[in-house]
Amino acid sequence: MCAAALDVAIIGAGPYGLSAGAHLRTLGLETRVFGPPMEVWRRHMPRGMLLKSDGFASNLSDPQSEFTLKNYCAQNKIPYDDTRIPVPVEVFIKYALAFQKEMVPELDERRVENVERVNGHFRLQIGERDSVTARRVVVAVGISHYASMPTVLSGLPPGRASHSADHHVGTAFKGKKVVVLGGGASATNTAILMHEAGADVLLIARSNSLEFHTGPGDQPRSLWQKLRNPSSGLGPGWKSRFYTDLPDVFHRFPASHRVRIVDRHLGPASGWPMRDRFLGKISMLLGREVVAAQEAGAGVRLTLATRDGRTEEHETEHVIAATGYQPDLARLPFLDASLRDSIATVNHAPELSVNFESTLPGVYFTGLSAANSFGPMMRFAYGADFTARRLARHLRRR
Ligand SMILES: Cc1cc2nc3c(=O)[nH]c(=O)nc-3n(C[C@H](O)[C@H](O)[C@H](O)COP(=O)(O)OP(=O)(O)OC[C@H]3O[C@@H](n4cnc5c(N)ncnc54)[C@H](O)[C@@H]3O)c2cc1C
Repeated sequence: MCAAALDVAIIGAGPYGLSAGAHLRTLGLETRVFGPPMEVWRRHMPRGMLLKSDGFASNLSDPQSEFTLKNYCAQNKIPYDDTRIPVPVEVFIKYALAFQKEMVPELDERRVENVERVNGHFRLQIGERDSVTARRVVVAVGISHYASMPTVLSGLPPGRASHSADHHVGTAFKGKKVVVLGGGASATNTAILMHEAGADVLLIARSNSLEFHTGPGDQPRSLWQKLRNPSSGLGPGWKSRFYTDLPDVFHRFPASHRVRIVDRHLGPASGWPMRDRFLGKISMLLGREVVAAQEAGAGVRLTLATRDGRTEEHETEHVIAATGYQPDLARLPFLDASLRDSIATVNHAPELSVNFESTLPGVYFTGLSAANSFGPMMRFAYGADFTARRLARHLRRR
């Protein structure tokens, strides 16, 4: 049993948790970050993936903005360009782990199993036996508890259906027939992972076409191109520029408007770096929705509805739902029910103040959980800088 009372406990050591930790520890606040570092990126994203975000938009945040991906690549002689060289996921992970060692050296890699309120403080159970108390808690668990599985697959046993988050490597599927469901970046990345591992892959999506972001093209861009589509951390365009530069204005929009924008902005388009590894190599059935799924022999029979009202059947050995992530407070297993009940939500995600504080004073949320409050930037590492600086400004005064 550890008796020390922390000023701030940060749950999660992904880009947001590590960035918040790097800022808060310089303020003289007793801060500790908990969790295995970069776990989602190391274990739940396709190996070999190239990041959708540009190099300049793939930083963790420290107070002096010194430990950037650009500086890390320069020091380690890794090819880098702000927009023209895609960032391999392995480079991003190594960079983030180096950031952690330098900026958040006191990381506790154990998981937080439970958080409850005791005498006006929060008690966190760490691992199986230890606990700490903290005056404030920052929940920085990113996408890790929010994988969204279509209900139509819920009757299938685990060996026949899974979520894209379950697959970091594709070797177990070599020589097998696999269906990947979805039309976004997760779906194309997972289909490529499986195809390159030797699986016979078919991608099935509701949309009639798959979209890929356009590449950086010829650089430098003309003044006209810059005016029409200004650069932003979410890719070029005025809307993206608005969402990255003015998250406080976004925060003032009515809740229903915010939720709609977060659902729709950027749509499901995949990153341009993966386009050539997908198109012409992987089979697709577009304009189809899976309306039923049943075990059939050693595999699965899918019933598909077409846009013109017909149904088709398709058999496969395994279905992977690359159907994204939906924030939902009820799915955070470590939050004691009494805490959860005190937190108001917007479309299942916590409602947050301009300082990322929930309606339960002292409990803060970042990343995907904060997207309905601060906009689409929170779905990407790019939002970590704004978040960490805002948390630091707010918490230093308390
Ligand atoms: C296929 C795919 C591709 C993507 N590509 C990009 C991209 O190119 N660029 C980009 O910016 N974003 C990309 N994203 C989005 C990416 O997930 C977020 O940008 C990023 O992970 C946000 O960081 P985070 O710190 O909020 O969360 P995460 O990276 O999800 O980290 C959360 C951490 O919380 C930890 N955790 C969870 N529960 C506990 C607990 N109880 N105790 C302790 N720790 C806990 C986990 O171990 C995890 O390490 C992609 C997502 C997917 C699925």
